[in-house]
Amino acid sequence: MPNPLPTWSKSVGTLLSHPGDQPPQHQVSLTVNDGVIQAIAPAETSDHPDWLALPALANAHDHGRGVAPFVFGALDQALELWLPSLKLSPPIPSYESAALAMARMARGGVGSVMHCHNPASPNVMEEMLQVCQAARDVGVRLGLAVSMNDRNSLSYGHADRLLNLLPESDRSAVEQLWNQPPRSPQAQLQLVDDLAATCSDDDRITIQYGPRGPQWCSPELLEAIAEASANTGRRVHMHVLETRYQREWADTHYPQGVITYLDEIGLLSPRLTIAHGIWLKPAEMELLAERGVIVSVNTSSNLRLRSGLAPYRQLVQAGVPTALGLDGMAINDDDDALKELRLNYHLHAEVGIEQSLTLSHLFRSHRYGATVVTHRQDIGTLEPGMAADILMLNRAALMADVVPDLCDEAALVMARGAARYVDSLYVAGRPVVAAGQVVGIDEEAIAADVRHALTHPPDRVYSLQPLVQRYQSALTQFYGQGWHQKHSDNA
Ligand SMILES: [Zn+2]
Repeated sequence: MPNPLPTWSKSVGTLLSHPGDQPPQHQVSLTVNDGVIQAIAPAETSDHPDWLALPALANAHDHGRGVAPFVFGALDQALELWLPSLKLSPPIPSYESAALAMARMARGGVGSVMHCHNPASPNVMEEMLQVCQAARDVGVRLGLAVSMNDRNSLSYGHADRLLNLLPESDRSAVEQLWNQPPRSPQAQLQLVDDLAATCSDDDRITIQYGPRGPQWCSPELLEAIAEASANTGRRVHMHVLETRYQREWADTHYPQGVITYLDEIGLLSPRLTIAHGIWLKPAEMELLAERGVIVSVNTSSNLRLRSGLAPYRQLVQAGVPTALGLDGMAINDDDDALKELRLNYHLHAEVGIEQSLTLSHLFRSHRYGATVVTHRQDIGTLEPGMAADILMLNRAALMADVVPDLCDEAALVMARGAARYVDSLYVAGRPVVAAGQVVGIDEEAIAADVRHALTHPPDRVYSLQPLVQRYQSALTQFYGQGWHQKHSDNA
């Protein structure tokens, strides 16, 4: 059981209650009672004159990659070719991997983390329990999506054709390593129920259905998830239309449109988060807005995996609640959500004088991100009644060379924000980061363990690399020849 929630009062030099929407307040006291903000009021003096308080950030889509795939040779390239190379990872315990990732995110100001769990072994339950423990120890809120899939693990359809593109001697090894035998929808739903029952005493953890994506899930599985979510009220988190090949596969298999199909089965609701949505069409965005579906935009990842650029501005204009995710693939491999904010702001803004994507939209995306993770509405602004999820930046360092009183703090956070300016992070009033260091775990000791595992890999890693490369070359031919667009009854 978590410890009782804290009560405290601090006065800070500057506070942004709704960054981008309301001007900063100066010299204010912040009172937290039982993990909730009770009062914000003017203060005579300030205990922390250099602190700039703002709402903690949320990472609305991630996989808890404590080890960057780059370091074991999974180099940035198209998603369909990159995915097989994740098998090159030396074995790292799920706890250590998730704890390192969450610690880095927390040091970058993230208080809520959406973790889509990619199983690394047959013991998925044990892995997910380790991820939950890592979140408890680091102290962040965790949304955990249980991976659910039952088809197309080798390629989008036509596995026989894909295997034919491989040398005959590789076929059984590729099948054995990458082709997952499908489990029944009932067995997969049961795993979600079992995990949720285990974590039910901790309100920092929200277990969710995690259908991997339309091309990896049968209609039977998607329909069973839609029904279960309606019955339990549990959220659903799914990759949708991340790449051009997924769009083309979906257009072949759902002639009415894959988003229309998801609506027909009742999956589009405020309980659903779509990750990516790069290849959404304007009418589909309007439907998502009507249904209250949240879309997580994951820009760094999309750049690195050659997926394209999500229509962030168009989603916002269509009224779709839009969140931001790091997807374990931040452009600098540092899980720094403050830098990601800036990348999104500049990359998705119009060219020229129009300005429909504002600071307010960017910061509000983090509020929607907290809903993606927790299914709650009371996280993401600093005002009485909201959860005390608070980020304290070192304003003095951030503004060291700034002309006083000319520059708005929210604009400055956008222009310069980075993990190195994070002093403290509180989640439900509990300290998670203090003086730039994670409080709940010995991050350096875990990092040292992981470094040892990476620099002493098993021989298997080296013998696997040529097979991965031959598989990637078969996939290049498969998608180049358009096999994913050819209909087949069992695809
Ligand atoms: Zn992802």
